[in-house]
Amino acid sequence: MQRGFGDCHVTSRAINTGHVILCCSSSMTARCQHVVAALLLTLGGVLSFPVGSEKRDPVSCGYQSCHPTKPGMLNVHLVPHTHDDVGWLKTVDQYFYGDRNDIQHAGVQYILDSVVDQLLKNPDRRFIYVETAFFYRWWKQQSASMQQTVKQLVNEGRLEFVNGGWCMSDEAASHYSAVIDQMTLGLRFLNETFGACGRPRVAWHIDPFGHAREHASLFSQMGYDGFFFGRLDYQDRDSRRSKKEQELLWRASDSLPAPMADLFTGILPNGYNPPTGFCWDQLCNDAPIRDDPDLEDYNVDDVVQRFLQAANNQAEMYKTNHIIMTMGSDFQYENANLWYKNLDKLILYVNAQQAKGGKVNVLYSTPSCYLQELHRANLTWPLKTDDFFPYADDAHNFWTGYFTSRPALKRYERISNSNLQTCNQLEVLGGAASRKGPFGEGDSQTLRKAMGVAQHHDAVSGTAKQHVTNDYARKLANGWQHCQVLVSNSLASLSGSSAPRVYCDLLNVSVCSLTESSKKFSVTVYNPLARPVTWPIRLPVYGSSYLIKDAKGNSVDSQVLPVSKATREVRRSRGHTANELVFQVQAPPLGYTTYSVSMLQGGASSAASPKRGAPTSIQNKFLQVTFDPDTGLISGLSNLETKQSIKLTQNFYWYNASDGKNSESRQPSGAYIFRPNSTVPFVISRVAKTETVQTSVVQEVRQWFAPWVSQVVRLYADSRALELEWTVGPLPVSDGLGKEVITRLDSSIKTNEMFYTDSNGREILQRRKDFRPTWQLKQSEPIAGNYYPINSRAFIKDDVDQLTVVTDRSQGGGSIQNGSLEIMLHRRLLYDDNRGVGEPLNEVSDIFPEGLVVRGRFLLSLDRPASAADIYRPLGQEEVLQPVLSFTDGDLDANARLEFSGLQAALPPAVHLLTLSQWDADSVLLRLEHQFQISESKLNSQPVTVNLQKLFSTLNVLGVSELNLSANQWKDEVRRLSWTPENEEKPYLKTFQDPSAWEVTLRPMEIRTFLVRVRADASSTEGRRRRQTVTEEVLVPQNTSFSQKSHIKADQMLP
Ligand SMILES: [Zn+2]
Repeated sequence: MQRGFGDCHVTSRAINTGHVILCCSSSMTARCQHVVAALLLTLGGVLSFPVGSEKRDPVSCGYQSCHPTKPGMLNVHLVPHTHDDVGWLKTVDQYFYGDRNDIQHAGVQYILDSVVDQLLKNPDRRFIYVETAFFYRWWKQQSASMQQTVKQLVNEGRLEFVNGGWCMSDEAASHYSAVIDQMTLGLRFLNETFGACGRPRVAWHIDPFGHAREHASLFSQMGYDGFFFGRLDYQDRDSRRSKKEQELLWRASDSLPAPMADLFTGILPNGYNPPTGFCWDQLCNDAPIRDDPDLEDYNVDDVVQRFLQAANNQAEMYKTNHIIMTMGSDFQYENANLWYKNLDKLILYVNAQQAKGGKVNVLYSTPSCYLQELHRANLTWPLKTDDFFPYADDAHNFWTGYFTSRPALKRYERISNSNLQTCNQLEVLGGAASRKGPFGEGDSQTLRKAMGVAQHHDAVSGTAKQHVTNDYARKLANGWQHCQVLVSNSLASLSGSSAPRVYCDLLNVSVCSLTESSKKFSVTVYNPLARPVTWPIRLPVYGSSYLIKDAKGNSVDSQVLPVSKATREVRRSRGHTANELVFQVQAPPLGYTTYSVSMLQGGASSAASPKRGAPTSIQNKFLQVTFDPDTGLISGLSNLETKQSIKLTQNFYWYNASDGKNSESRQPSGAYIFRPNSTVPFVISRVAKTETVQTSVVQEVRQWFAPWVSQVVRLYADSRALELEWTVGPLPVSDGLGKEVITRLDSSIKTNEMFYTDSNGREILQRRKDFRPTWQLKQSEPIAGNYYPINSRAFIKDDVDQLTVVTDRSQGGGSIQNGSLEIMLHRRLLYDDNRGVGEPLNEVSDIFPEGLVVRGRFLLSLDRPASAADIYRPLGQEEVLQPVLSFTDGDLDANARLEFSGLQAALPPAVHLLTLSQWDADSVLLRLEHQFQISESKLNSQPVTVNLQKLFSTLNVLGVSELNLSANQWKDEVRRLSWTPENEEKPYLKTFQDPSAWEVTLRPMEIRTFLVRVRADASSTEGRRRRQTVTEEVLVPQNTSFSQKSHIKADQMLP
C-alpha cells in the first residue's frame, strides 16, 4: 500500500500511472490541495519512476513478445546468450574493450555491437543480456539513433534483460546488503533507460559455484518470476535428473510467510553451454550447417538427426514438453553472425521435419518465455527449503576453498560496504553541501559502482587472477577516496566546522600519521547504525599519557598500551610509534560524536606494561575466559550473567593442500577447490608464548604460535563478546607444501554432528555432518565435503549452551568433530586447480613480497540458545557496519557542533536500518529490516512498528511510497507468477495492514523498501541552509547517466 502526506487518505488515483497518491489531513485543506496540484503537475516526474513508460508506449515486450509454441510437440527454446564476467582473467575494463586478448579473447563492446546488428536482420531472433556494468558502459557510447534502435528492440522483446544487476553476484562470499545494493544499481539503470520493458522477469545465475538460500529469498522479494542456474553438486544433479526434479519451487525463508520467499528455480541442462556439437561461435570448432545439397559435405540431415537426438535425450530429464537450450557461453557472440546464421538454419531444417510427422518444434526464445510455458503447464513442483552448498563437480572436487580464498580482499570488500553505507547516509543527512562543499566535489556513486563490480562471482569469491584482484581493490580504494570528500563535506555542514579531516585506513595495524605525530587532536566517530554503539578505539601514539574528553566535556577512561610485536611486524615501515591509546567511544544512532585527545606532558606515564605468561583467567562483568597455564591456550569460557560455563580450547592448524599427485584423483587444492591431503590437520604449535596486559579499559592475552601465526585474546570492559584478533602469514611454502590455515574451537558442547551457519548474513541454516537434506550423500571428502560458507556468523549448540562466532568477513568452515567448530583463515597454494583461473593462489605484494599477512577478528559469545540471537544479531550488525573515524588536528573549532544524530530516537532492537541513500532531488531510498527470525528470540521475534514520520531529526518526511526490494517497482504493482508445490496447497500472498499510513509494521526477517520524499527541517539552521541549496540545484549526482527526467524542484512540493 502507498503512504502519503500527513494523516492520509486516498484522494486521487493518477490516471496515467495508475499509482495511488495519499494526501494529508481529514479534510481537503488548502495545503493538501496544493500538494495534490503540485503532484499532478509533476506526474511525469518522480511518480512516473520507477514505473517508467509502461503505460504510455505501445509495446509488446515481456511475456507478450514470446514466439508461439506447439502444444502437441516438444518445444525447444533456443536462448542465445553470452556470459560476460565482470572481471576474471582480465579486468572489467580489459573485458569491455577487448584489451589483452593474449590473455583471453574477449571484448564485450564488440559483442553488443554485433548482436544488435544481427537482431535487426531478422525479427524472430532473440538475445538476452545480463550484466548491467557492461551494458551501461556500452549504452553511454552509443549515438542517439542507435539508442533509439536498441529501445525498439527492447520494447519488442527481441533484446531482453535478465538478472539485470550490476553483475552476477557470488553467492558464497557476498553479504545481502551489498547484493541488494548492486541489484538496485543495475535495475535502476534499466528502469530509467527502458521503463517496464527493461525490467527483468527472471534471475539468471548460470555460473556461481553453489547457490545460497538467501539469494533466492532476495530474488523473490525483488519480484522475479523465476530463477535459473547452471551449477549444482554432481550427486544432486544425478538424483534430480532421474527423478525429473531439475525444476522446483525453492522456499527460501523460514520466517517470511509463503509465497513471499518462494522462487521457481530451474537447473539448466548443460551448465550454460549449448549441447555438444552445436556451438557456432568463433571461439568454437563445431561444423557449421552446410546446406548446399550440391556439395559433397552437405550435412543438414546429420545436424538435424543429432539435434533431435539431443533434444529428446534432454526432454527425458524434464517434466514438460518444453526444454531450454543455452546457445552461447563465456564472451561469445563477438561475431554474432556465426551463431545466428546457423541457428536460423537449424530452426528452418528441424521444423521442416514437422511436415513429415516430426514432433519437435524449435524456436528462438528467452528464459522468461520458457518460464511462461512452464507456468502454463500448471503442474506441481518439488519443494526445497535448504540451499545448494557445497558444490562438488566430482568426488574429490569440492568448491569450498573459495569460501576463504583471498581473505584480505574479502575483508576489504566488507569494510567498503560499511564505508559506502556511511557515505550514503551522510549524503542524505548533509544535503547538497555534501557533494559540493569546502573539500571539493565528492560522490557516493564511484564506490557504489566499485562495490557492484566487487560482488561479481570471480571478485569477492577470490577466484580472479592476481592483477584483476588488484584492480578490484584499487576500484574500491578509489571509490572510498570520492566518499571521503563527501563525508568531510557532510560533517562540515552538520558540525559547522570546516577543519580539514584525515582518515586512517590502516588503524588495524596501528598506522595513522596524524595521531602518531600530534599532541592534540580530535576524533569524530560516525555511527551508521540506527542504535547507539559502544566501540573500542585504538590509535597509534607516541606519548604515554593522554586526556580524553567526550562531546560533553567529560573525561573518558583511557589506557596506553605498547604496540604488540605482531603489529610491529605487520605494519613494517609504515608506522613507528611504540604505543597505542585505547578508549571506548559511545556514538549516537545514525550520527556522530567528537572526542578530543590531548597528550599530557610531565604527567605520570599511564602506559601499561605487559607481563610474561598467561593469567589463569581474565574477566569483565559479563564474561570470564580461563587459560591453561601449561600451554597458554584458552581452556574455558563462562557467561557470568547466565552462569554458564563450557570447556573451550582454541588453536591454529594447517591442512596440507593436495598437489594433485595422488592415486585417487589428480585434483589439487586451488583458488576454487579445497582438497586437503589428510583428514587430520597439523598443529602449528601445541603451546603459545604469551604475555598479558590487564587494564581497566581492556585486558589482552597476546599469544604467539609461530613467526606466521599470532593472536590477541581481548576483553573490553563493557563487552559481551570475547575478541580473538588473529594474524596469519606469510605462510611458509619453502617446504614445497601448500597450506590452508584454520583455527579450531573445541568445546564441551554436545553438538550431535550439527552446526549452524548464516546465509549471506541473514537467516540461519542447520548443517549436519556427511548429510544433505534432499539426497543420499556418498561422502568422499570428509573435510572439504563438510565445509560451508560463513558470511557473518556460525554457531554450535546443545540444549543449554550456544557458542556463537561472529566473523568480520566471509570464510569457510565446518564442524568435523563433536563440539568443534573450525574456520579457515588463510590459504597459500602452489598449484592451479584447473577451473580456469590458471594461477596458483599464492598471494604476495610489494609490502609483503614473501607472502600476504592477513589480520582479522572473531567475536565469541556464550549464551542460552533461546536468547543467543538477542546478542549475536546486533553484534553481527555492529561488525558489518562499523563506525567511520575522522581526525582533525589541533584545537576544536569553538562553535562546532560536537554531536549529532539523524534520528529522533534509536530504532527498536529488532529493526535494522539497512539503506538510507539519496535517490533524487527530494527523495531518499529507505530500507528497514526486521533482523530477527521467527521464534529465534522471545523478546525480539515479534512484529515491530516504526513511525516513518517521526524517524528523522532534521528531515521532514512529506510522503512515502513503498517499493519492491530492488526499488524498481511500486510494491502494489508487483505481480509474480504463482506456483504450486507438490503435496501442498498453492500459497496465496497474505497482505498485512499497517496501523496507519505513517506507521509501518515489520515482521521477522522482513525488509521493507520506501521511497521517501523529504525536506530539510526549516526550523533548524542547518535545515534552512540546506533548503535554500535544494531549490537552487539538482541533487542527483552529476556523474551518473541515470535519467534526469525525475527532477523537480523541492519548492514545488512545499505548501
Ligand atoms: Zn562467470
